[in-house]
Amino acid sequence: MPIDHKQPYDDSNIFARILRGELPCRKVLETDHALAFHDINPVAAVHVLVIPKGAYVSWDDFAATAPEAEIAGFVRAIGETARLVGAEPQGYRILANSGKRAGQEVPHLHVHLFGGQPLGPMLAR
Ligand code: 5GP
Repeated sequence: MPIDHKQPYDDSNIFARILRGELPCRKVLETDHALAFHDINPVAAVHVLVIPKGAYVSWDDFAATAPEAEIAGFVRAIGETARLVGAEPQGYRILANSGKRAGQEVPHLHVHLFGGQPLGPMLAR
């Protein structure tokens, strides 16, 4: 039997509410398929979140079930966001916490984009 990668999506999560305009955000970029906005609790000089507009919980869900136009639109939005905030060409890091073990707090797929400073090693040992 094929694996069902589609995860149940909670429409009341914070990023769904931002997408519907019910909560404010400091927008960096909005495209047909993605929204980028500053993280409310930045951990780097530049800390932006990029989210697909579609209802995807995790990377697994998105990678397995999103139409190719949405995947391309999301990836391009991440690249464009890096340029808009000046992280490209200086250098930056993108990171997606996916699932419990990674500490994903908001159940709507998001990529963190960190920049604006030297970022140090990838993980503390
Ligand atoms: P996660 O731990 O799920 O990878 O990251 C969730 C991120 O969302 C955190 O960095 C947190 O600061 C950010 N965040 C949570 N609530 C809000 C909000 O209402 N607005 C914005 N802009 N960011 C939020």
